[in-house]
Amino acid sequence: MVRHIAIIGSGPAGFYTAEAALQQFGDDVAITLIDRLPTPYGLIRTGVAPDHQSVKAVTERYAFTARNPRVRFIGNVAIGSDISVDELCTLFDEVILATGAPRDRKLGIPGDDLPGVVGAGAFVGWYNCHPDFQDLSPSLDSERAVIIGNGNVALDCARILSRTPERLEKSDIGSHALEALRTSRITDIHIIGRRGPHQARFTAREVAELNTLRRITPIVPPQVFPPVETDAGLDEGQRRMVEILRRYAAHGADFSRTTKLHFDFFRRPVRILGDTRVTGIEIMDTHIDFDGKLVDSGRIRTVDCGLVVTAIGYRTDPVPGVPYDEELGRFSNADGFIAPGLWCVGWARRGPVGTIGANRPDGFHIVERIAANEGVADRPGRDALLTLLAERGHKIADFDDWARIDAAEIAAAREGAPREKIVDADDIDRLLQADPQE
Ligand code: NAP
Repeated sequence: MVRHIAIIGSGPAGFYTAEAALQQFGDDVAITLIDRLPTPYGLIRTGVAPDHQSVKAVTERYAFTARNPRVRFIGNVAIGSDISVDELCTLFDEVILATGAPRDRKLGIPGDDLPGVVGAGAFVGWYNCHPDFQDLSPSLDSERAVIIGNGNVALDCARILSRTPERLEKSDIGSHALEALRTSRITDIHIIGRRGPHQARFTAREVAELNTLRRITPIVPPQVFPPVETDAGLDEGQRRMVEILRRYAAHGADFSRTTKLHFDFFRRPVRILGDTRVTGIEIMDTHIDFDGKLVDSGRIRTVDCGLVVTAIGYRTDPVPGVPYDEELGRFSNADGFIAPGLWCVGWARRGPVGTIGANRPDGFHIVERIAANEGVADRPGRDALLTLLAERGHKIADFDDWARIDAAEIAAAREGAPREKIVDADDIDRLLQADPQE
């Protein structure tokens, strides 16, 4: 009997889970990959930084999976509004939520909703042409910007704010963002971390990359480091990262470079200032006590700025009918299991931690758990879903439609760039309705 699996979300977690299910169940599986957008690949398309183009080559592997006869991509279908999870659970043996963590966590301090404060997810979505964030219009007209958070997403945002437009031109960054960045006045970017270099979540490669960029000079105050002997207690990756930060501190700033990247460690944001838009941010000096706890020093300083990007982590979007852990910002689950026939995987399961590659073992793990715990009933699967959607007058986009969008984007690319993404849903509709022979 064929096992009918619906995977919701066609980003890395969704595709690796599909790949795992093909391997596990062979010919006895039919996989339907559902996405809210008409375009596949999730975070690879709208999350990965445009100056890290080589990471996106993994989509070739995903396309190979999508073209497997046992797999079908169905885009343009929103779970919760076009079809409910309960309905999917009656049609499929397994429903696996691979919806990631697309929503920015809020800072929760006064002023965090002022114009000029943007979440990193929204900012990244804006320059990467995610249709949800095209109206963002981040303020790039002041000399100083602040990024809150000490993870790789903060570094992604800092690089994009400071890279030379000529380098970004050859990437898939949206032309609207490229044009806005051309006129940016930002020369000083403060990366604010509430703890120190030993606790920062940057990776060594991303920190090392900063010094290879023509415009940027990283500025790290030497006094933020604990004694060098304490580095020995760090794991290897963290130690290499801290060593690079120490080198930046020892070399000092290169003022011939136009963008100064200030690493402000041991600073906790307390209030964002401004009446109608951001004019600055108040930050509290902190330190870590002997028990490893973060302690306020009582000293507050102000950084004037016109843009605050919060890069402090993400939340999964709730889905009606699926239990949700408000505190952790993801589905309530026990190692991927939500309820019989309902599972989650990737960031929707374990929170927004880890690289794209980390979703591969995750997908295989969940499929192994499904194989060990769940049998196959006689469910109607994909055909019944397509009938139901057609009865509702809902127009889906399939992988052939994506191939047409893909070809149109490649044809519209700036010189030397891989593609110009189509953002507007109406433009995509028009393209898909046009006669393919024309
Ligand atoms: P992250 O690595 O978890 O970093 C989040 C940062 O936000 C931490 O420094 C955290 O500080 C800080 N933070 C949280 N709440 C805060 C608050 N209220 N006030 C001030 N700071 C706060 O998350 P991320 O940067 O979003 O990255 C997500 C995952 O994607 C990571 O695993 C990352 O490595 C990965 N990623 C990888 C790449 C790459 O490989 N090039 C690129 C982008 C993302 P505390 O530690 O003090 O909580």
